[in-house]
Amino acid sequence: MITRRIWIMTLFPEFFKPLLDCGVAGQALRGERAESIKFDVRIVNVRDWGMGNYKAVDDTPYGGGPGMVMRADVLASAFNEGVMIPGGYTDKSELTVIYTGPRGTPWNNQVARAFGEQTLTDQDIVFICGRYEGIDERFLTHYVDLTFSLGDYVLTGGELAVMTMLDSSVRFVPGILGNKSSANEDSFEDGLLECPQYTKPREFEGESVPEVLANGNHAKIKEWQQDQKELMTKTHRPDLWEKR
Ligand code: SAH
Repeated sequence: MITRRIWIMTLFPEFFKPLLDCGVAGQALRGERAESIKFDVRIVNVRDWGMGNYKAVDDTPYGGGPGMVMRADVLASAFNEGVMIPGGYTDKSELTVIYTGPRGTPWNNQVARAFGEQTLTDQDIVFICGRYEGIDERFLTHYVDLTFSLGDYVLTGGELAVMTMLDSSVRFVPGILGNKSSANEDSFEDGLLECPQYTKPREFEGESVPEVLANGNHAKIKEWQQDQKELMTKTHRPDLWEKR
């Protein structure tokens, strides 16, 4: 059993409490679903390294313009004293440092799978959550190894991006999901959306569960599910359909 630490440097530690408290992702990240790898999430409050009476972590941008920029020196202190020293690391190369922002590699299921199967298992990880107008470029070039973007829109901070990344990739860490095959049957795995699903009652507001699903012919069920996946994808995501 190996233990992997996931460090999260943020100005809003409280964001992460519900992620860690709830559901299967929470269990996994609390180290409770471990078979071969156990996670240990450490939240580092960057404010603790803020400057002066007000614990300032940001300042006005050189060249003018609106908003504030997070200081590289404050982030470097938080990284060195809040992660490197308490973690017992001797060199930054022992860690994979991750930033999120619009310039990053677009996050999708394929990227999440590689992240869960490799990045999360290979090395301890540090997430840097940006706030305000972002982070001094020098911290990014000196410290960050990988950057990911959730999509072409602007979040007010990196916290939701980091939580989304963890939630969508932890399912792919070997030995974490109870039902190992379920991640392979979810949407996107074969370039298709999931087929419709039904449970009890058999009749709801005048509509019955499709007959084929209730009659126990497995070959017919598989065939119906595949047809439905294709229909769903053509109807709802023609862009995905075109790409396959
Ligand atoms: N001024 C920046 C946006 C700053 S938003 C720009 O125009 O690009 C504040 C923080 O939110 C960023 O530092 C980043 O960590 C996070 N963030 C914003 N949009 C994001 C996105 N699409 N994906 C991931 N993180 C994002």
